[in-house]
Amino acid sequence: MTTTQEDANVTRPIRKVVILGGGTAGWMTAALLAKVLGGARPERAIAIELVESEDIGIIGVGEATIPPIQQVNAVLGIDEAEFLRETKATIKLAIRFENWGAIGESYYHTFGTAGRNLPFCSFHHFWTRARQLGIEGSYWDFDLNYLCARGGKFAPTTGNDPIWDMPYAYHFDSGLYGQFLRRYSEKLGVVRTEGTVRDVQRAAGVGDIMALVLADGRQVAGDLFIDCSGGRGVLIQQQLGTGYEDWSHWLPCDRAMAVPSQRHVQTAPFTRSIAHGAGWQWQIPLQHRNGNGLVYSSRFCSDDEAAQVLLGHLETPALDEPRIIHFRTGRARRQWNRNVVAIGLSSGFLEPLESTSIYLIQSAITRLLHLFPHDGITPQLTGEYNRQSQIEMELIRDFIILHYHANQRRDSAFWRDLRQMEVPERLARKIALFAANGTLVQDQHDIFMEPSWVQVMMGQGIVPADYHPLADGPSEAQLRGQLAQLAQLKARPLDQLPSHDDYLQRLLGQPA
Ligand code: FAD
Repeated sequence: MTTTQEDANVTRPIRKVVILGGGTAGWMTAALLAKVLGGARPERAIAIELVESEDIGIIGVGEATIPPIQQVNAVLGIDEAEFLRETKATIKLAIRFENWGAIGESYYHTFGTAGRNLPFCSFHHFWTRARQLGIEGSYWDFDLNYLCARGGKFAPTTGNDPIWDMPYAYHFDSGLYGQFLRRYSEKLGVVRTEGTVRDVQRAAGVGDIMALVLADGRQVAGDLFIDCSGGRGVLIQQQLGTGYEDWSHWLPCDRAMAVPSQRHVQTAPFTRSIAHGAGWQWQIPLQHRNGNGLVYSSRFCSDDEAAQVLLGHLETPALDEPRIIHFRTGRARRQWNRNVVAIGLSSGFLEPLESTSIYLIQSAITRLLHLFPHDGITPQLTGEYNRQSQIEMELIRDFIILHYHANQRRDSAFWRDLRQMEVPERLARKIALFAANGTLVQDQHDIFMEPSWVQVMMGQGIVPADYHPLADGPSEAQLRGQLAQLAQLKARPLDQLPSHDDYLQRLLGQPA
């Protein structure tokens, strides 16, 4: 580390942002900052420079998203057909979890909502009562996302009637997505510099970073640095030594093995997550291939065993050799430290079970834009940013732990250990309340709303013992009639909807 005597005033106005890293995090940050801050009045104009190393490259996974990704496209003004074409994307309505509750069983965590929620009394209370009365039908029969996922159908719904609302996200090729955003960002004036950062220049006074020093000696100076350098955390950890909160005692998977395979003849509009003896396998359908991988715990499964499980369960021929990725679940103790904001894998890691990393990138950028230190960095801004980042990540962590903890499997030490482990207190309370009478408390910063928690809890065998008294409102006959009518209503559009492949083909003007 080189230090200078230059006065490092943390409250200096921010006029130049330097982004280190050109993966999904780096280019999403560049595109959104350039687009949103580009509208600032001239005296607040911000220059943006992105430094990336072709020698190091990107992680090259991260292909399943959740619906808020559509807000990114909307802010950037991206045409959906162009986006789908350029990134070889498909539609995602849900994740199908297989063998998670018990072996041989599966359920969908959809982006939709079953039934209709009344004030104070959500649909699952009525369904719980119906179940107790012996009325047949699954909770998911009332969810259009589920019906379409299962039937391989898709077309965007009008949104005029919430009963036919069908929120969706995308699966895309992560390498192509980065390049797409790079072209977009460069058009808005983002400067890209190729090179490997070997050192930084820091101010002696408070130790802020003043410039990145590249391997060939070039320097890239800035006021605010966004660390998108991936798991290395080049600035936030290697330079600032921020520290890392380790969550692997709750989430023991520490490796992934990834391999692409040939596409299926029919493209499913959902991700698959298949639990195995010491981890789980993902299958992500793209237009030109499937993305596959196994997330596993090296304490319970060797790399050779992982390769056997993954390759043994591929449904289409592999297109490459499998590669191993190491990770440690947890988060940087402060995601904004001094004049460095860590976004993407440098800010922490949660396994991709619920496809939340790209969303966390989006959310971090949104938060930074809300709290952008135009006139200088203050403890109030960094404090608020770090507080929100922490709670948001902890809530997602808890949701992921729920999948592991609420398992009914007896077949391996991995699953037995996870079923018996002590979970974070907030999660333990949530599970207990739901199991007692279906009550769910919505936390302010939780991206997962009530229907998500209900689906995973019930999908994995936590069915409420009781329900809200308001669900006793209709008589038994009325309840039967209303549920039958609702199921019919939800199923009604199915016949008219095209298959997912037909939809893509029509939109893109070519076979998907
Ligand atoms: P990277 O892609 O690693 O980019 C880091 C960048 O920093 C690169 O450009 C690199 O060259 C540069 N760099 C590093 N060091 C230096 C240096 N010294 N000098 C110059 N440049 C440097 N997320 C989801 O939302 N959905 C998923 O389905 C999903 N699946 C995943 C599966 C696995 C197995 C893993 C591990 C992650 C998954 N993720 C998923 C997370 C997702 O991959 C990442 O959030 C996303 O790719 C962002 O990565 P990144 O940009 O932070 O890091």
